[in-house]
Amino acid sequence: MPVNKQIVLDSRPTGAAEARNFRLVESEAPSPGPGQVLVRHLYLSLDPYMRGRMNDAKSYAKPQELGAVMVGGTVGEVVASNNPRFKIGDKVVGNGGWQNYSLSDGGDLRVIDASRIPIQAYLGPVGMPGVTAWYGLNKIIAPKKGETVVVTAATGAVGSVVGQLAKIAGATVIGVAGGPEKCAYAKDELGYDICVDHKSPNFVEELKAALPKGVDGLFENVGGLPFETAARRFNDFARAAICGLIASYDGAPAPAIDLRVMLTKRIKVEGFIVSDHMALWPTALAELAGHVAAGRIRYRETISNGLESAPEAFLGLLKGKNFGKQLVKL
Ligand code: NDP
Repeated sequence: MPVNKQIVLDSRPTGAAEARNFRLVESEAPSPGPGQVLVRHLYLSLDPYMRGRMNDAKSYAKPQELGAVMVGGTVGEVVASNNPRFKIGDKVVGNGGWQNYSLSDGGDLRVIDASRIPIQAYLGPVGMPGVTAWYGLNKIIAPKKGETVVVTAATGAVGSVVGQLAKIAGATVIGVAGGPEKCAYAKDELGYDICVDHKSPNFVEELKAALPKGVDGLFENVGGLPFETAARRFNDFARAAICGLIASYDGAPAPAIDLRVMLTKRIKVEGFIVSDHMALWPTALAELAGHVAAGRIRYRETISNGLESAPEAFLGLLKGKNFGKQLVKL
């Protein structure tokens, strides 16, 4: 059997996550038992939620166990199958984790059509991040034509899809991103009306100036100053979809919400976790696949090479070093 490299959680971070929290181990790739398939992974998705799983803290999902393979979405190819639903050569998306091979009973696997859409997009705009964008925008913000929607981490895996869906819905879309290169991409490639660089020394004034008509929808991925600034510009009946607070994942405090403003402006603030809404995934994925195949939703990827590169790439994601969806090519 071929060698299966795996990255396990070796220790829990105290403060910011570090490379020494991960450990590379090697063993033989397993053989599938009755009803199982063996998948060789081609791409691993790196996602901010993995940082939360590294802590031994109560949250919406159980912590990652010490010594266990890091959890993660994967696309790969079936290389052995004892399951009639899958044949050798099928391309599948699943949750194989930070390793080269995984066994599955098929319950978490979906066969994907690689003819119209590159396989790794099933970990991005046509996968979990895309559905996250679709759900938060359509089910919480529900923008009307001409409304103003603000999106933080505007060029990332989730944010880039939010921005483009909001434009398709006819909204004026203001992005917040880190650095001039990301902001230029947000406007020129993703179609944002304005993108404000949160690293600018005049960020607060620049974001305020970009919001002459206030804020009707806020898709929050980061927390911190962009949230506080946009929230001060909420219009009556604004909606905020709280998707992520990545600026706090390494321990910094999350921004406070002024309840008096929520009351007097009748604001809806709703947190959500995309995996609570599995019944909507087929509808969302079909819509997103149509947009991606037709070029209406564009996307960008940062791809690191080899499983060994995953920890550094992941730590970079938590610091904004990725530009678009962070993947590892295996
Ligand atoms: P991204 O591809 O957007 O990458 C993360 C981006 O966040 C970075 O590129 C950076 O963008 C920004 N960022 C990182 N650290 C900081 C920081 N300390 N301060 C400010 N900005 C920072 O990641 P995803 O699209 O995968 O995820 C976006 C958000 O959505 C995350 O908060 C994630 O947890 C959340 N999420 C929530 C889900 C849910 O079900 N609720 C499901 C999936 C994701 P920049 O350089 O532009 O600042």
